[in-house]
Amino acid sequence: MFYYDPTYLLILPAVLLAIFAQIRIQKTYSKYSKIKALRGYTGAQLARYILDDRRMTNVKIEPISGRLSDHYNQRTKTLKLSQDIYDGNSVAALGIAAHEAGHAIQDANSYVPLKIRNTIVPVASLGSWMAFPLFFFGFISEIPQLMDLGILFFTLAVTFSLVTLPVEYNASHRAINILQNGRFLSDKEIPMAKKVLSAAALTYLATSAMAILNLLRLVLLRGRRG
Ligand SMILES: [Zn+2]
Repeated sequence: MFYYDPTYLLILPAVLLAIFAQIRIQKTYSKYSKIKALRGYTGAQLARYILDDRRMTNVKIEPISGRLSDHYNQRTKTLKLSQDIYDGNSVAALGIAAHEAGHAIQDANSYVPLKIRNTIVPVASLGSWMAFPLFFFGFISEIPQLMDLGILFFTLAVTFSLVTLPVEYNASHRAINILQNGRFLSDKEIPMAKKVLSAAALTYLATSAMAILNLLRLVLLRGRRG
């Protein structure tokens, strides 16, 4: 009954958006990771330069395995750059390295959305873990309080994915400004880096859309059970 229910159709647009976003980031990244930047920095060198320029010498930069696995670890103050970004010098590599440096700068500047996101991380991950089992159990055993609790927990997960958006967009915005002002990329290369970063941002947007529509779906199912 849960599996053959028409509210599944509700999340279809988000599923399609997520697939589209995945294809687009893979294609865009493949394209611009083959275009070498005119200035010969590697991603790691660029990130080091950006951080040292802001006296952020305490932030470490380390390679990590995987493709597009790049991230900033706030706890250990480490930029983790995938091998192609770490020692690559493509337009895509420099764009992504600058984006990750952007996260480290957010951390150093106590950027508010990042702080909010960190505050809700523990409850949000518990929330996304517990929401569906709680709701599902409440649904089949017709206990509305459990369904409400499931919805509440899922709302935390939705909030987390929404707060992630400004954090990601802001890191990309900082990255483009740095690349432009520091002349790390030429005027011709800047739009290419922008394309890579906005393709990456679309994947976060798709995740949020999925979360919101799933929440809507739970609310509708809850309404049906009264
Ligand atoms: Zn990011």
